[in-house]
Amino acid sequence: MPDTPEPTLPRCAACPYDWSERWCRSAKGKAPADCPSLRMRDLAETSVACMAAEPCGEFARQASLQEASCYGGREAGYGAVVPLKPRIVEIVEFARRMGYRRLGLAFCIGLRAEAGVVHEILTTNGFDVASVGCKVGGKPKSLLGLGPADQVDPEASHETMCNPVFQALALNEARAEFNILLGLCVGHDSLFFKHATAMGTVLAVKDRLLGHNPLAAIYHYDSYYRYLKKPLP
Ligand code: SF4
Repeated sequence: MPDTPEPTLPRCAACPYDWSERWCRSAKGKAPADCPSLRMRDLAETSVACMAAEPCGEFARQASLQEASCYGGREAGYGAVVPLKPRIVEIVEFARRMGYRRLGLAFCIGLRAEAGVVHEILTTNGFDVASVGCKVGGKPKSLLGLGPADQVDPEASHETMCNPVFQALALNEARAEFNILLGLCVGHDSLFFKHATAMGTVLAVKDRLLGHNPLAAIYHYDSYYRYLKKPLP
């Protein structure tokens, strides 16, 4: 078997052109040699066929309508679009647009107070809410082959694992039509998405240090977080 050649990697995040002149902004303009818009035209066709047809079609259409509804200021003389809504409002509105009645809430137990507020907001807006915390099942981390030294608290005789697969399966059984993730850890969120039947979105990701705002480190890349300019030790 011949070796499969290494693919050319798309590098939109390192595109050398200003957004105002990029090819993908208007299907013309400037593009680097590795531009996926130019190199992968077949994927543009395939993906649009997927986005425009069921089971994705209505979801994609409503997501785009929701996106547009999150800005104002066009007629009010601001000279630029003005953001209008926090993400929790966006989620409520999108779920309404899709006609969902039952929502799943998969949350980190460390954010149980916030989960209570989110639950209240969703029920106030007429949804049935099924919610499952990350420690559901109470199974020990030892079942993952981990020892005391691998625990958050090495002194604890039992440390319950986060179980995002249980969270997903429980919300599948609850027949949640749309799942909302709140504060799941890196990797645990991945397992949830892999095992959940319904589509899902993220209200907030976990960042223990930065108040669940991981972009704070990115915004301070040139100052407090400049150590990120070198490989981590
Ligand atoms: S699609 Fe092409 S032009 Fe657009 S950001 Fe990516 S590399 Fe740049």
